Amino acid sequence: MENIVRLDQARKKRIHWDTVIIVAVFHLAAVAAFFTFSWANLAALLVVWWISGSLGIGLGYHRLLTHRGFKTPRWLERTLATFGTLALQSGPIAWVTTHRLHHAFTDTDKDPHSPRNGVIWSHIGWIFKGTAQRQPDAVVKKYAPDLLRDPYLGFLDRHYYLTSVVAAGILFLIGGWTMVVWGIFLRTVMLWHFTWLVNSATHLWGTTRFETTDDSRNNGFIAAITFGEGWHNNHHAYPRSARHGLTAREFDINWVQIRILERLGLAKDIYAMDLDAKEAKVYKKAA
Ligand SMILES: [Zn+2]
Ligand SMILES: [Zn+2]
Repeated sequence: MENIVRLDQARKKRIHWDTVIIVAVFHLAAVAAFFTFSWANLAALLVVWWISGSLGIGLGYHRLLTHRGFKTPRWLERTLATFGTLALQSGPIAWVTTHRLHHAFTDTDKDPHSPRNGVIWSHIGWIFKGTAQRQPDAVVKKYAPDLLRDPYLGFLDRHYYLTSVVAAGILFLIGGWTMVVWGIFLRTVMLWHFTWLVNSATHLWGTTRFETTDDSRNNGFIAAITFGEGWHNNHHAYPRSARHGLTAREFDINWVQIRILERLGLAKDIYAMDLDAKEAKVYKKAA
């Protein structure tokens, strides 16, 4: 254990220059979008954004793999995880480990990305330094043992950039390099910042429905740009709930999609917060 702590401290001091360079290159490449607009390029961005941000990160990495708010057939779980890798936010096991640590230690010193350690840190700084997405094996084993059991998720974790390379190739064949700028570079940068805003902004600004011990907030703007992930105070109060927007006004596209999967027979044992009953329970369709 002592070795783990020492490793942890050593890694905390190290700046991850590979991440710094990749993030910088993507931001620079995204600027080319300003000079290469076309409706086809915009459509490509929107489609890949939905696949990676909504199906991949929101449904796959977050509500399914991290919090196990519902169950899907194994092939669909793997498909959603594969879509998640398109976001270039690390593989599913590293992402889930980081996010489970965030819930276990929200807004404390052990939180990987709390605004209490600085707004810039919580938004982007945490990926450049420290152990945030490079947890020691012992930590991964402790926080994501369920994911380690699936060798396919392990493969995705080691090679999470592959789907972006394949997607870039497909976009190039369809619409040339300008479509790659929109569908890969601009879309990735956009999705990075939208996801990071959940870590930064929704721990700073918005409303509080539930008295949680952390700083989480419900933020409609962030929910609108993250397919429903911005109802973050609801989420911290009931992390396992597959439903984050709890009223008709709290629009939650990811929840709507989980309901659609249920109707298709592809999602079951859905665990969801019921505001009237003031508890989270296995979701039952109205008779
Ligand atoms: Zn949070
Ligand atoms: Zn969460």
